[in-house]
Amino acid sequence: MKKSPSRARPAWVVVAVLLCGLLVSLIVFGDGGRLALGPCTPGRAGAAEGVSGEAKELLETSNFEASRKAIGDLKTGVVDPRLVSTLQTVAEEHRICVDAFKEGHYFLPGVPDGPLIPDSYGDAGGLPNTHYYGRAADIRRVDGRPVRGNGGNLSVLNVGKTLAGIPPQERPDQIIGPSSWAEALDRSYGEGWVLNPDQLALHEDHLHIGYRSNDGTQNTR
Ligand SMILES: [Zn+2]
Repeated sequence: MKKSPSRARPAWVVVAVLLCGLLVSLIVFGDGGRLALGPCTPGRAGAAEGVSGEAKELLETSNFEASRKAIGDLKTGVVDPRLVSTLQTVAEEHRICVDAFKEGHYFLPGVPDGPLIPDSYGDAGGLPNTHYYGRAADIRRVDGRPVRGNGGNLSVLNVGKTLAGIPPQERPDQIIGPSSWAEALDRSYGEGWVLNPDQLALHEDHLHIGYRSNDGTQNTR
C-alpha cells in the first residue's frame, strides 16, 4: 500500500529540527559572545589519554582551549616543553584558546608551511618558522573575547603582563600581538617583544608566542 503524502512527520525529523535550533542558539548566544561550539575545545579531565607530563596537565586544564589540530600537536609531542609550560602559566590566570602550533598553521592561505617563513610575509620573510618546529603558539581568544579589536582589553593585556613576569631564560623571545597591545604593555626587544610595525600589523587578530631557538632565549632582561 502506498504511503499517504499527508502523513505526519516522523518523530526523528522533529527532534532533528529542534536540535538544529539548539545548535544555532548555542553558536549565536554563547556566553560572553563566545562561539560556544567554535574552534576552541576546552581542556578537561581525561582529555589527554596516553599523554604524559606537562602536555597532559595542559590538556586537562579547563582554562586552556585549543583547536583540534593544536590538541593533536600536544598529544603527539610536537610542542616545545617550554611553550607548554608558558601556556600553563598563562592558563592559570586566563582562559585562552590556541588555534595553532604546527598543524593547521598557515602564513599564506592554502600554502603548506615549511621550515622558513615565506618571503612575502613582511620583513620576517626568510626567517625560521618557529611554528614548523613546534616552538610557537597563536592565541586567538582570551577569556572568551577575540584578540582582534581587544588589544587594550584588561584580560588580553594581563596575558602580556604574565608573560613579562616569566624569567628571561624561560620567557618566549618572540612575542607579537596587536599594535594597541604592544603600545600599552610598552615592552622591549630585550624582553622578547617583536615591535616591527609590519609584524604588529600582521598580528592584529592573535598573540604569537614563540621561542626563536631550540635552547635558551635571546632575552636580555
Ligand atoms: Zn604565530
